[in-house]
Amino acid sequence: MSILKTQNLCKRYGRRPAVDNVSITVEKGDIFGLIGQNGAGKTTFMRLVTSLTRADSGEISLFGETTPARLTAARARIGSVIEAPALYGSLTAFQNLEYYRIQRGIADKNRVQQVLETVSLTDTGKKKFKNFSLGMKQRLGLAVAILSHPDFLIMDEPTNGLDPIGIIEMRDLIKRLSLEGITLLVSSHILSELAQVANKYAIIHNGRLLKSLTHDELQEECKQALAITVDDVAKASVVLETALGASNYKQVSANELRVYDRVEDPAEITFRLSQEGVRVSGITAVGDSLEDYYTKIIGGEPK
Ligand code: ATP
Repeated sequence: MSILKTQNLCKRYGRRPAVDNVSITVEKGDIFGLIGQNGAGKTTFMRLVTSLTRADSGEISLFGETTPARLTAARARIGSVIEAPALYGSLTAFQNLEYYRIQRGIADKNRVQQVLETVSLTDTGKKKFKNFSLGMKQRLGLAVAILSHPDFLIMDEPTNGLDPIGIIEMRDLIKRLSLEGITLLVSSHILSELAQVANKYAIIHNGRLLKSLTHDELQEECKQALAITVDDVAKASVVLETALGASNYKQVSANELRVYDRVEDPAEITFRLSQEGVRVSGITAVGDSLEDYYTKIIGGEPK
Protein backbone atom coordinates (compact mmCIF):
# COMPACT_ATOMS: atom_id res chain seq x y z
CA MET A 1 0.00 0.00 0.00
CA SER A 2 1.28 3.44 -0.89
CA ILE A 3 1.53 6.21 1.69
CA LEU A 4 0.68 8.93 -0.82
CA LYS A 5 -0.61 8.60 -4.34
CA THR A 6 -1.68 11.60 -6.39
CA GLN A 7 -3.30 11.31 -9.77
CA ASN A 8 -3.46 14.24 -12.18
CA LEU A 9 -3.48 16.73 -9.35
CA CYS A 10 -4.16 20.28 -10.54
CA LYS A 11 -4.26 23.67 -8.86
CA ARG A 12 -4.47 27.03 -10.59
CA TYR A 13 -4.04 30.51 -9.24
CA GLY A 14 -5.93 32.71 -11.66
CA ARG A 15 -5.03 31.43 -15.11
CA ARG A 16 -1.65 30.14 -14.09
CA PRO A 17 -1.34 26.47 -13.11
CA ALA A 18 0.75 26.11 -9.95
CA VAL A 19 0.40 22.31 -9.97
CA ASP A 20 -0.39 20.82 -13.35
CA ASN A 21 -1.43 17.17 -13.62
CA VAL A 22 1.03 15.83 -11.09
CA SER A 23 0.90 12.08 -10.41
CA ILE A 24 3.39 10.64 -7.93
CA THR A 25 3.50 7.69 -5.55
CA VAL A 26 5.32 7.68 -2.23
CA GLU A 27 5.78 4.20 -0.78
CA LYS A 28 6.30 3.26 2.85
CA GLY A 29 9.90 3.88 3.89
CA ASP A 30 10.68 6.32 1.07
CA ILE A 31 12.59 9.51 1.47
CA PHE A 32 10.97 11.09 -1.56
CA GLY A 33 12.67 14.19 -2.95
CA LEU A 34 10.53 16.80 -4.67
CA ILE A 35 12.90 18.91 -6.72
CA GLY A 36 12.11 22.17 -8.44
CA GLN A 37 13.20 25.77 -8.80
CA ASN A 38 11.52 28.61 -6.94
CA GLY A 39 7.95 28.81 -8.13
CA ALA A 40 7.96 25.26 -9.55
CA GLY A 41 4.95 24.30 -7.45
CA LYS A 42 6.54 22.31 -4.61
CA THR A 43 4.86 24.21 -1.77
CA THR A 44 1.50 24.21 -3.53
CA PHE A 45 1.76 20.46 -4.04
CA MET A 46 2.48 19.93 -0.34
CA ARG A 47 -0.35 22.26 0.64
CA LEU A 48 -2.71 20.19 -1.49
CA VAL A 49 -1.62 16.96 0.17
CA THR A 50 -2.06 18.41 3.64
CA SER A 51 -5.34 20.15 2.66
CA LEU A 52 -4.02 23.62 3.40
CA THR A 53 -5.47 24.37 -0.03
CA ARG A 54 -8.01 22.60 -2.26
CA ALA A 55 -7.24 20.96 -5.57
CA ASP A 56 -9.13 22.04 -8.69
CA SER A 57 -9.05 18.47 -9.98
CA GLY A 58 -7.25 15.18 -9.57
CA GLU A 59 -7.12 12.62 -6.81
CA ILE A 60 -5.21 12.17 -3.59
CA SER A 61 -4.90 8.87 -1.77
CA LEU A 62 -3.30 8.83 1.69
CA PHE A 63 -2.59 5.50 3.37
CA GLY A 64 -4.96 4.03 0.79
CA GLU A 65 -7.83 6.36 1.72
CA THR A 66 -9.56 8.50 -0.88
CA THR A 67 -12.95 9.61 0.44
CA PRO A 68 -13.09 13.06 2.10
CA ALA A 69 -13.94 11.77 5.58
CA ARG A 70 -11.28 9.06 5.53
CA LEU A 71 -8.72 11.45 4.05
CA THR A 72 -9.30 13.79 6.99
CA ALA A 73 -8.60 10.92 9.38
CA ALA A 74 -5.56 9.85 7.35
CA ARG A 75 -4.16 13.38 7.52
CA ALA A 76 -3.95 13.04 11.30
CA ARG A 77 -1.09 10.62 10.60
CA ILE A 78 0.90 13.32 8.77
CA GLY A 79 3.36 15.75 10.28
CA SER A 80 4.35 18.72 8.19
CA VAL A 81 6.78 21.59 8.15
CA ILE A 82 5.42 23.65 5.29
CA GLU A 83 4.89 26.99 6.89
CA ALA A 84 6.78 28.03 9.99
CA PRO A 85 4.72 26.89 12.99
CA ALA A 86 3.75 29.54 15.51
CA LEU A 87 6.56 29.36 18.02
CA TYR A 88 6.80 31.79 20.89
CA GLY A 89 9.91 33.96 20.94
CA SER A 90 9.95 34.41 24.68
CA LEU A 91 9.59 30.69 25.45
CA THR A 92 12.31 28.03 25.53
CA ALA A 93 12.37 24.97 23.25
CA PHE A 94 10.89 22.85 26.04
CA GLN A 95 8.13 25.36 26.83
CA ASN A 96 7.17 25.74 23.16
CA LEU A 97 6.88 21.96 22.76
CA GLU A 98 5.03 21.60 26.04
CA TYR A 99 2.48 24.12 24.73
CA TYR A 100 1.89 21.97 21.63
CA ARG A 101 1.83 18.74 23.65
CA ILE A 102 -1.00 20.06 25.81
CA GLN A 103 -2.81 21.68 22.87
CA ARG A 104 -2.81 18.38 21.00
CA GLY A 105 -3.82 16.34 24.02
CA ILE A 106 -0.70 14.16 24.04
CA ALA A 107 -0.81 12.44 27.43
CA ASP A 108 2.79 11.20 27.48
CA LYS A 109 4.71 13.83 29.44
CA ASN A 110 8.06 12.35 28.37
CA ARG A 111 7.29 13.03 24.73
CA VAL A 112 8.71 16.58 24.78
CA GLN A 113 12.05 15.38 26.11
CA GLN A 114 12.14 12.53 23.58
CA VAL A 115 11.51 14.89 20.69
CA LEU A 116 14.11 17.37 21.95
CA GLU A 117 16.61 14.52 21.90
CA THR A 118 15.63 13.52 18.38
CA VAL A 119 16.26 17.03 17.05
CA SER A 120 19.35 17.55 19.24
CA LEU A 121 17.96 20.48 21.19
CA THR A 122 18.28 19.10 24.71
CA ASP A 123 21.10 21.44 25.67
CA THR A 124 19.32 24.72 24.94
CA GLY A 125 18.17 25.12 28.56
CA LYS A 126 16.79 28.57 29.29
CA LYS A 127 17.64 30.00 25.89
CA LYS A 128 14.60 31.64 24.37
CA PHE A 129 13.38 30.76 20.90
CA LYS A 130 13.99 34.30 19.65
CA ASN A 131 17.72 33.83 20.35
CA PHE A 132 17.99 30.52 18.45
CA SER A 133 20.04 30.20 15.26
CA LEU A 134 18.06 29.52 12.07
CA GLY A 135 19.14 25.86 12.18
CA MET A 136 17.85 25.51 15.74
CA LYS A 137 14.59 27.23 14.80
CA GLN A 138 14.08 24.85 11.88
CA ARG A 139 14.80 21.85 14.09
CA LEU A 140 12.30 23.05 16.68
CA GLY A 141 9.73 23.47 13.90
CA LEU A 142 10.43 19.88 12.94
CA ALA A 143 10.09 18.83 16.59
CA VAL A 144 6.55 20.26 16.59
CA ALA A 145 5.78 18.28 13.44
CA ILE A 146 6.92 14.95 14.92
CA LEU A 147 5.43 15.45 18.38
CA SER A 148 2.35 13.35 17.56
CA HIS A 149 4.33 10.39 16.14
CA PRO A 150 3.45 10.92 12.47
CA ASP A 151 3.84 8.03 10.02
CA PHE A 152 4.44 10.43 7.16
CA LEU A 153 6.40 13.66 7.37
CA ILE A 154 6.26 16.42 4.77
CA MET A 155 9.06 18.98 4.81
CA ASP A 156 9.21 22.01 2.54
CA GLU A 157 12.79 23.15 1.84
CA PRO A 158 14.12 22.12 5.27
CA THR A 159 17.67 23.24 4.46
CA ASN A 160 16.74 26.62 3.02
CA GLY A 161 18.93 29.36 4.43
CA LEU A 162 20.99 27.02 6.61
CA ASP A 163 24.78 27.18 6.82
CA PRO A 164 26.82 24.07 5.84
CA ILE A 165 26.77 22.67 9.39
CA GLY A 166 23.03 23.28 9.66
CA ILE A 167 22.53 21.50 6.33
CA ILE A 168 24.48 18.45 7.54
CA GLU A 169 22.54 18.37 10.80
CA MET A 170 19.22 18.54 8.97
CA ARG A 171 20.29 15.82 6.55
CA ASP A 172 21.33 13.56 9.44
CA LEU A 173 18.03 14.23 11.11
CA ILE A 174 16.10 13.27 7.98
CA LYS A 175 18.05 9.99 7.80
CA ARG A 176 17.43 9.32 11.50
CA LEU A 177 13.68 9.92 11.17
CA SER A 178 13.61 7.58 8.20
CA LEU A 179 15.40 4.89 10.22
CA GLU A 180 12.77 5.36 12.93
CA GLY A 181 10.18 4.28 10.36
CA ILE A 182 8.81 7.62 9.17
CA THR A 183 8.15 8.01 5.45
CA LEU A 184 9.27 11.41 4.18
CA LEU A 185 8.43 13.80 1.36
CA VAL A 186 11.09 16.51 1.26
CA SER A 187 11.40 19.40 -1.17
CA SER A 188 14.46 21.29 -2.31
CA HIS A 189 15.59 23.41 -5.22
CA ILE A 190 19.03 21.74 -5.03
CA LEU A 191 19.14 18.20 -6.38
CA SER A 192 22.61 17.45 -5.01
CA GLU A 193 21.40 18.24 -1.51
CA LEU A 194 18.59 15.72 -1.62
CA ALA A 195 20.69 13.19 -3.55
CA GLN A 196 22.49 12.45 -0.29
CA VAL A 197 19.35 11.30 1.48
CA ALA A 198 16.51 10.52 -0.93
CA ASN A 199 15.77 7.17 -2.55
CA LYS A 200 13.29 8.55 -5.10
CA TYR A 201 12.86 11.86 -6.87
CA ALA A 202 10.26 13.82 -8.77
CA ILE A 203 11.48 16.83 -10.71
CA ILE A 204 8.82 19.48 -11.23
CA HIS A 205 8.95 22.65 -13.27
CA ASN A 206 6.21 25.16 -14.00
CA GLY A 207 3.88 22.93 -12.01
CA ARG A 208 4.49 19.91 -14.23
CA LEU A 209 6.19 16.65 -13.38
CA LEU A 210 9.11 16.32 -15.78
CA LYS A 211 10.81 13.24 -14.41
CA SER A 212 10.38 10.58 -11.73
CA LEU A 213 13.34 8.39 -10.94
CA THR A 214 14.92 6.26 -8.25
CA HIS A 215 18.24 6.98 -6.61
CA ASP A 216 19.87 4.14 -8.58
CA GLU A 217 18.54 5.55 -11.84
CA LEU A 218 19.89 8.97 -10.92
CA GLN A 219 23.29 7.46 -10.11
CA GLU A 220 23.26 5.70 -13.46
CA GLU A 221 22.41 8.96 -15.27
CA CYS A 222 25.22 10.76 -13.48
CA LYS A 223 27.85 8.04 -13.61
CA GLN A 224 31.08 9.12 -15.27
CA ALA A 225 31.97 6.81 -18.15
CA LEU A 226 33.72 6.54 -21.51
CA ALA A 227 31.53 5.72 -24.48
CA ILE A 228 33.75 3.80 -26.90
CA THR A 229 32.71 2.98 -30.46
CA VAL A 230 34.58 0.02 -31.93
CA ASP A 231 34.35 -2.38 -34.87
CA ASP A 232 34.47 -5.52 -32.72
CA VAL A 233 32.81 -5.31 -29.32
CA ALA A 234 33.69 -8.87 -28.27
CA LYS A 235 37.36 -8.39 -28.99
CA ALA A 236 37.36 -4.97 -27.33
CA SER A 237 35.84 -6.52 -24.18
CA VAL A 238 38.67 -9.04 -23.99
CA VAL A 239 41.28 -6.29 -24.36
CA LEU A 240 39.58 -4.17 -21.73
CA GLU A 241 39.66 -7.00 -19.23
CA THR A 242 43.01 -8.57 -19.96
CA ALA A 243 45.24 -5.71 -21.09
CA LEU A 244 43.60 -2.87 -19.20
CA GLY A 245 42.18 -4.59 -16.11
CA ALA A 246 38.79 -2.91 -16.60
CA SER A 247 35.95 -5.06 -15.29
CA ASN A 248 33.25 -2.42 -14.93
CA TYR A 249 31.87 -1.94 -18.43
CA LYS A 250 28.80 -2.81 -20.47
CA GLN A 251 27.78 -3.15 -24.08
CA VAL A 252 25.15 -0.53 -24.95
CA SER A 253 24.75 -1.21 -28.69
CA ALA A 254 26.25 -3.37 -31.46
CA ASN A 255 29.30 -1.13 -31.66
CA GLU A 256 29.40 0.72 -28.40
CA LEU A 257 30.79 -0.06 -24.99
CA ARG A 258 30.44 2.03 -21.88
CA VAL A 259 33.43 1.78 -19.58
CA TYR A 260 33.24 2.94 -15.97
CA ASP A 261 36.80 2.02 -14.97
CA ARG A 262 39.81 4.06 -16.08
CA VAL A 263 37.61 6.95 -17.21
CA GLU A 264 40.58 9.27 -16.81
CA ASP A 265 42.61 7.26 -19.32
CA PRO A 266 41.01 7.54 -22.79
CA ALA A 267 44.37 7.80 -24.58
CA GLU A 268 45.71 4.60 -23.00
CA ILE A 269 42.47 2.74 -23.75
CA THR A 270 42.51 3.85 -27.39
CA PHE A 271 46.19 2.90 -27.71
CA ARG A 272 45.76 -0.56 -26.22
CA LEU A 273 42.66 -1.36 -28.23
CA SER A 274 44.36 -0.28 -31.46
CA GLN A 275 47.49 -2.25 -30.56
CA GLU A 276 45.36 -5.39 -30.22
CA GLY A 277 43.74 -4.78 -33.61
CA VAL A 278 40.47 -3.19 -32.48
CA ARG A 279 39.45 -0.20 -34.54
CA VAL A 280 38.29 2.68 -32.33
CA SER A 281 36.11 5.19 -34.19
CA GLY A 282 35.05 7.22 -31.17
CA ILE A 283 35.76 7.71 -27.48
CA THR A 284 33.82 10.28 -25.49
CA ALA A 285 33.41 11.11 -21.81
CA VAL A 286 29.76 10.81 -20.76
CA GLY A 287 27.82 11.27 -17.51
CA ASP A 288 26.42 14.46 -16.08
CA SER A 289 27.03 16.04 -12.74
CA LEU A 290 23.85 16.12 -10.67
CA GLU A 291 23.26 19.78 -11.40
CA ASP A 292 24.01 19.33 -15.13
CA TYR A 293 21.52 16.49 -15.19
CA TYR A 294 18.91 18.61 -13.44
CA THR A 295 19.51 21.52 -15.82
CA LYS A 296 19.21 19.14 -18.77
CA ILE A 297 15.86 17.84 -17.51
CA ILE A 298 14.39 21.30 -17.03
CA GLY A 299 16.30 22.67 -20.03
CA GLY A 300 14.25 24.27 -22.78
CA GLU A 301 11.46 24.78 -20.28
CA PRO A 302 10.93 28.49 -19.85
CA LYS A 303 10.11 29.61 -16.33
P1 ATP B 1 9.28 28.42 -3.71
O1 ATP B 1 10.44 27.60 -3.33
O2 ATP B 1 9.66 29.75 -4.31
O3 ATP B 1 8.21 28.53 -2.64
P2 ATP B 1 7.62 26.46 -4.99
O4 ATP B 1 8.17 25.44 -5.89
O5 ATP B 1 7.27 26.05 -3.62
O6 ATP B 1 8.62 27.67 -4.95
P3 ATP B 1 4.95 27.47 -5.14
O7 ATP B 1 5.12 28.34 -3.93
O8 ATP B 1 4.12 26.28 -5.02
O9 ATP B 1 6.36 27.07 -5.72
O10 ATP B 1 4.38 28.38 -6.31
C1 ATP B 1 4.00 27.89 -7.59
C2 ATP B 1 3.36 29.01 -8.38
O11 ATP B 1 2.10 29.33 -7.80
C3 ATP B 1 4.17 30.28 -8.39
O12 ATP B 1 4.02 30.87 -9.67
C4 ATP B 1 3.51 31.12 -7.33
O13 ATP B 1 3.67 32.50 -7.60
C5 ATP B 1 2.06 30.70 -7.43
N1 ATP B 1 1.34 30.79 -6.16
C6 ATP B 1 1.58 30.04 -5.05
N2 ATP B 1 0.72 30.35 -4.07
C7 ATP B 1 -0.09 31.32 -4.55
C8 ATP B 1 -1.21 32.05 -4.02
N3 ATP B 1 -1.64 31.85 -2.79
N4 ATP B 1 -1.80 32.97 -4.83
C9 ATP B 1 -1.36 33.17 -6.09
N5 ATP B 1 -0.32 32.50 -6.65
C10 ATP B 1 0.30 31.61 -5.90
